[in-house]
Amino acid sequence: MTSFAFDLIELPAEAEALRAEVREFLRETLGDRAAHRRAHSWGGFDREFSRRVGQRGWIGMTWPKRYGGHERTFLERYVVLEEMLAAGAPVGAHWIADRQSGPLLLRFGTDAQRDRFLPAIVRGEVAFAIGMSEPDSGSDLASIRTRAVRADGGYVVNGTKVWTSNAHLSDYAIALFRTSVVPDKKHEGLSQFLVDLATPGITIRPIIDLAGSHHFNEVVFQDVLVPEDMRVGAEGDGWKQVTTELAFERSGPERYLSSFALVTELIHEIARRPTDRGLVAVGRLVAHMATLRQMSLSVAGMLQAGANPNLEAALVKDVGTGFEQEIPEIVHALLDLEPTIDSGSELQQTLGYLVQRAPSFSLRGGTREVLRGIIARGLGLR
Ligand SMILES: Cc1cc2nc3c(=O)[nH]c(=O)nc-3n(C[C@H](O)[C@H](O)[C@H](O)COP(=O)(O)OP(=O)(O)OC[C@H]3O[C@@H](n4cnc5c(N)ncnc54)[C@H](O)[C@@H]3O)c2cc1C
Repeated sequence: MTSFAFDLIELPAEAEALRAEVREFLRETLGDRAAHRRAHSWGGFDREFSRRVGQRGWIGMTWPKRYGGHERTFLERYVVLEEMLAAGAPVGAHWIADRQSGPLLLRFGTDAQRDRFLPAIVRGEVAFAIGMSEPDSGSDLASIRTRAVRADGGYVVNGTKVWTSNAHLSDYAIALFRTSVVPDKKHEGLSQFLVDLATPGITIRPIIDLAGSHHFNEVVFQDVLVPEDMRVGAEGDGWKQVTTELAFERSGPERYLSSFALVTELIHEIARRPTDRGLVAVGRLVAHMATLRQMSLSVAGMLQAGANPNLEAALVKDVGTGFEQEIPEIVHALLDLEPTIDSGSELQQTLGYLVQRAPSFSLRGGTREVLRGIIARGLGLR
């Protein structure tokens, strides 16, 4: 049986110095924000904030200088990210491009695509969405049906994407389309494209979530012309590329910090009115969080060393999202507190927001069951 390994990583001194800089920047830029706003975690979208982060050199931190990147380490990037998430900073306008669209272009894009997009991403000026899921294709992504058919000057696209986060606010999506149908081989015939979301024929409709917010969308393509030079990688290589992209998506601190604002509120509450049960619960949560952080940092260390830690990344996401989901339940049971929206104490509102958001934590970026399938395969169990 294959096994997994999480080596202990100690952050280098330069990473800790950077932490102080990031905290200072966040204090100056965001001020003192209420916990229920911090609970939006990476859900906020603010182009001006992203430009400022870009000016500080904190987007594309590990990318080559040739493309505007900063050639810093994955561990330094990790520190920036965990500070941003802990503060609930509105990272949405640069987040997807920094985490996955940019790295995808670095690996599979043409020189022209890299020259055109990467420096603009690094400056925090261009926002990306992810166009993978379709109405009948989520976990079984290889079954997508949106067609891109060769035509004069490129491809004509017809079909529908769903759950496309921030498509209504973004400039581009990296989308997966079917460029040919290979009978009985659904993983073949898929290709990835850079799609300008302002192209005629694209209709973006809101989907309102359980909490009444609009962040994801349905994106309909009707005879949309996507130029040939916007295809990413070779035609038909989409499946191999998209699985690489998903690995970028799965191991970071965003997979265990979504309920962090509620942990800090709970700690304040228990400090005010200590109880034995409360102290035990806080101790347990903090110990779990510290362990998850070490596991996630370990994956950042493996990425830094050029390894491919897909199995460990899936483990971090599975255990991490279980942890983020458990926090609202623990707080609810411990304090017997009514979750509220728009009224009540800060703790109640933070709880109210997270109770409604938590079910999505183990769906977005790949469901729990799908991750466990990947883990089982990685361990040689299936
Ligand atoms: C907040 C949020 C944001 C999202 N943003 C985006 C985005 O920006 N772009 C994008 O493309 N997608 C996005 N998604 C979609 C997300 O990737 C899909 O919801 C997810 O992959 C699951 O697909 P599905 O919803 O079609 O569910 P299904 O695949 O239909 O799954 C339904 C249930 O069946 C289980 N299941 C499915 N297959 C198996 C199996 N083989 N074995 C065991 N159990 C199985 C699943 O675990 C799940 O519990 C987002 C989703 C959420 C919740």
